Amino acid sequence: MRSNIPWLRTIEQFEDEAIASTAVRLAPMGRIDTDTLLSLHLGMTDQSVSTIASRADAIAELAALGSFDHAKLSKGAWRMFKDRIEFLGCVLPVGWLVPERRRLAPGQMASAGENARVKNTWLLSGLICDVETGETLLDRCPACLNLLAWRNLPNIWSCQVCKLDLRSVTPRQSPPEAVAAVRELARYLLKRDIRLPAPLGDLPSPDVLKFSAWLSYFRWLPEDLGLAISPKNVPAGFLLLKRWPTCFDEIVLKRMKASTAEDLAKGDVISRIKAAGTLSSSVARLPSAAAQAIVKSRLETLFGFLDGSSEGFQDVMVPISELVNSRF
Ligand SMILES: [Zn+2]
Repeated sequence: MRSNIPWLRTIEQFEDEAIASTAVRLAPMGRIDTDTLLSLHLGMTDQSVSTIASRADAIAELAALGSFDHAKLSKGAWRMFKDRIEFLGCVLPVGWLVPERRRLAPGQMASAGENARVKNTWLLSGLICDVETGETLLDRCPACLNLLAWRNLPNIWSCQVCKLDLRSVTPRQSPPEAVAAVRELARYLLKRDIRLPAPLGDLPSPDVLKFSAWLSYFRWLPEDLGLAISPKNVPAGFLLLKRWPTCFDEIVLKRMKASTAEDLAKGDVISRIKAAGTLSSSVARLPSAAAQAIVKSRLETLFGFLDGSSEGFQDVMVPISELVNSRF
């Protein structure tokens, strides 16, 4: 590997730009492709340009090569652990940043001219549109339908498979309510100036995000829509979470076809336990034990088990398969 002598030609550095995007834009300044930049200058052979952001040594080399501010460039670094990802100062659940995936706003790239770049925030799966403009982000090429990735890229605006110039794609604006939800979520994640109602405020951010995705799914159960518990549904769920527990109570009432909360707490213990049990498989799909405990506690209150000591309720909230028909 060569020592890092700054190149004579470089590109303008942008604080909001993804590290992989910076590398793809810089390579032509040294008259080389990104693979050569990786192997010759960053000591990375046969690796994707998206991996630079996970290696402090490679980020430092890239900064030297392009005469970039090292601290600013490092803002786009990510670290992946078994159970979480750290990126942009946020702790995210696994799946919230898929490093090999590229997402972009075609309209913004087209209008940025030679400074067209991929922003760090575009890589967060839950932010489905650009936070400032509300332009919907593309994660698939509209021509060949392949997921956009970072490998074999001569520039950051082409599809890596069919080479379509994605700046030519007509930009789409996300609906105003989706944009508002994404902005709230971005405030929570990036600026940390949103305090959620008790007891949600004490949950770590990965649990809050999983809870939001689940609440989006739960919200549509009364309408018999089986939404995926996925990062893309988090913004809508996050807005619901901000109205905890009212939003949750409303959904449960609708699901149980009850008109008031008092109706749920009426009747004998057995029928109330049975009624609560119909929600147990949905609650079990919530992929956070801490969030599940909050939901169960709220259901306990709603169904009138105020002392928190109903064993029947606890039992029925653990869904099991009933062997009602063992002879198939
Ligand atoms: Zn394509």
